[in-house]
Amino acid sequence: MKITDLKAALIGNNVTLRIVTDKGIDGYAQVEENKPFVMPLTDYYKPMIIGADPTDVESVMRRIRRDGAFKPWGKMVSTIEMALWDIAGKEAGVPVYKLLGGKVRDRVRVYCTLYGNDRLPYPGAFEPEKRAENILAINEMAGFSIVKTALGFHNPRFTAMAEENGFAYNSYPISPAPPASRPNQPAQFHFENANGSLLTDKGLNFLIEYVAKVKEIVGDKVGIAFDCGPGFMPVDALKFAKGVEPYNVMWLEDLITGDYTPYQLAQCYRDLTSNTITNIHTGEQVYLRQNYKEIIETQAVNVLGPDPADVGGIAELKWIAEYANLHGILIAPHGVFNGVFGMAAHVQLASTLPQNYIAFEFPEAHPAWWSDIVEGLPDNFLQDGHIKVWDKPGIGVEFNIPKAEKYLRPEDRDFFL
Ligand SMILES: [Mg+2]
Repeated sequence: MKITDLKAALIGNNVTLRIVTDKGIDGYAQVEENKPFVMPLTDYYKPMIIGADPTDVESVMRRIRRDGAFKPWGKMVSTIEMALWDIAGKEAGVPVYKLLGGKVRDRVRVYCTLYGNDRLPYPGAFEPEKRAENILAINEMAGFSIVKTALGFHNPRFTAMAEENGFAYNSYPISPAPPASRPNQPAQFHFENANGSLLTDKGLNFLIEYVAKVKEIVGDKVGIAFDCGPGFMPVDALKFAKGVEPYNVMWLEDLITGDYTPYQLAQCYRDLTSNTITNIHTGEQVYLRQNYKEIIETQAVNVLGPDPADVGGIAELKWIAEYANLHGILIAPHGVFNGVFGMAAHVQLASTLPQNYIAFEFPEAHPAWWSDIVEGLPDNFLQDGHIKVWDKPGIGVEFNIPKAEKYLRPEDRDFFL
């Protein structure tokens, strides 16, 4: 079998890839939402993979792997990898998990990241009491046993409050802010996240009391993770982590570096992690196993959160998870914006991961019509905070082409042809 084409279309908010072969088998995968700027890279990677046998996934990846980088510049390479596995599974007539070594669980736990969802009692609320009610509502909706929410410099409300209330010794006023339209989300996000500084007593107390309030209301019903940074000075990260030790949070994420930071500062994380019993988490921006080597071998964090759509794909993440397990490090893969195909790839992978697996971050279908244009998802596939692993060949999700075509932009109308 040979690859004959690599096509991309912007469907809803997701750049979607289609690898075409001379055998009539197609592989599909989605880039994380709101990254239309990577779409022109299709023309860059395409000539590198044309003519290769897509079922020799590693052989194809060797052609393109060095042409990626930390988030967001590893997205196309990572997404191509997932589409290759889809083809390999379909050609072999087996679900992808069989090709990754086989599944070790029949259903996989997922966690939910709390955004301004309209179905919540207090959409977009930041006050700890309302946030706690939202977390309980999320648990009620689909049985999620772990919910993640944004705090610290990761949260624009916090950074605004930091300005107004003197939470930090220095600030970087956001002016002028880029427009808040979804395609520009990364730029806006960078601005909001550039506010790191040493915290004042007020700022540190606010954060610790915030966690305490949320945990007091939610109790032991739901595990709560806080996505916090980057931007904390290591000394504040440690004081914050120690301050919330009584509340047993699931993890504090990306305190020092992370998210879009193109490096890790493993030694700073190592100092933090070895001085607190609070779980410390990072890694969603990291590309390739080589860039995880130091953070794993020095046991610099307790939990890693690679994203298959940034790290180099699902086989890459599988390797990292196995290596992390040898070092006593947990794994909770990132994926909130990865779309329906991204979720399907996540399910295949998560079913094969070792005992250090906690849960992957559930990607909701955005816009909601995404779930109407695909087939293969079992009815009620999300129950009790878990997804039941399905057994269809490949990643197990296919486009309903007549329905999906209606959402193609005029410039992408040959995507399925
Ligand atoms: Mg994060």
